[in-house]
Amino acid sequence: MFDIHRHISQELTTLKMKGNYRLFLHQVRDESGNPYIKYKKDGKWIRAVNYCSNDYLAMSTHPGVVEESIKATQMYGLSSGGTRNISGTTDAHISLEKKLALWHKKEASLLFGSAYIANLATLQTIGRRIPDLTFFSDEKNHASLIEGMRSGGNKKILFRHNDARDLEQKLAASDPFSPKMVVFESIYSMNGQIAPVSEILRISRKHNALTYIDEVHAIGMYGDRNAGYCDQTSIPNKPDIVNGTLSKAIGAFGGYIAGPAEIIDFVRSFGSGFIFTTSLPPSVCSGAEKSIDILMHDKVRVTKMKAMVSLFRKLLKEDDIHFKSNASHITPITIGNPSKCKSVTDRLLSEFGIYIQPINYPTVPYGDECLRVIITAAHQEDQIFHLVKCLKICLDG
Ligand code: PLP
Repeated sequence: MFDIHRHISQELTTLKMKGNYRLFLHQVRDESGNPYIKYKKDGKWIRAVNYCSNDYLAMSTHPGVVEESIKATQMYGLSSGGTRNISGTTDAHISLEKKLALWHKKEASLLFGSAYIANLATLQTIGRRIPDLTFFSDEKNHASLIEGMRSGGNKKILFRHNDARDLEQKLAASDPFSPKMVVFESIYSMNGQIAPVSEILRISRKHNALTYIDEVHAIGMYGDRNAGYCDQTSIPNKPDIVNGTLSKAIGAFGGYIAGPAEIIDFVRSFGSGFIFTTSLPPSVCSGAEKSIDILMHDKVRVTKMKAMVSLFRKLLKEDDIHFKSNASHITPITIGNPSKCKSVTDRLLSEFGIYIQPINYPTVPYGDECLRVIITAAHQEDQIFHLVKCLKICLDG
């Protein structure tokens, strides 16, 4: 008889042997504020600087955002208390969905528990309800996009990462009358590469394919009004559906899609991952909306973050520390070995108070293990100088 417990135990042992077993750092925010944290070592709390947070613009600790969410908690309580259909649609949800649609210049938007669920539920719903639809997917798409496309059982054609020409060839070779959707990201989370967005949108339109773009790592930081990479006048064609998160640059929690009213209504009406789950807490919606209100008109935080990223990369180059070059704010330093990745990050933390979580399989393929260094708007120049000095010691050591 198949021994389930033995099987589970063996899988975990193999994971540990390969160096890919994940250990979470137990942490709290330090009194000195963002980007400091405290972690527990030998029963004592030790201070460290966080270099792996996706709270890119430090909006999670913005006083106005915090105040707005406290006010909403006092008004509504902590939970929405229900699914959107059953008492879980408050003024805070409606107002945020209107704001998101406006921000993305789309007819409508729809909130989800996370951007992961938004991707999964939307692609699954569209795929299942249009069984003849073929997905054209960038080969490096995020797990949530892959799961969404897979779960509908539709045909899926991969195109080479960020290769608009390969996409064009594959679209041209497909049945011109069959329904198609091109699924890609604007900024890839692990290598920080930016897609040839304009080209992909142009080609997709030429071949009558709907477009779905994941802007999770661009929302709040790119574009004319910080509404994402597509929010640039230099991108004339716009994607049909935009996916975004409230959990990174916006500093709150949750995810969404924005697009044509009828498609949004379709996912709202048929999407299992939207229908059968409690809606976001109203306080999270209110905090997120306040954050968007600030970010829509604010370039100071983004400019500061980008200046700090430039300084960091300049210092890395001066010290001969190799990183994957890209035009985004994400700086990956490839290590290529899970155990070395872990030993470098362990040393950075224990000796120098620098917290970078090692990135291993399955987040990246085997051999691409890296330090994904995130410089946020909360970091200061002296911290960046210290970081590069310590990276040099630990990477050379
Ligand atoms: N899409 C991409 C490209 C991501 O990197 C992530 C998570 O980091 C997600 C979607 C999911 O976002 P969320 O954390 O809101 O679920």
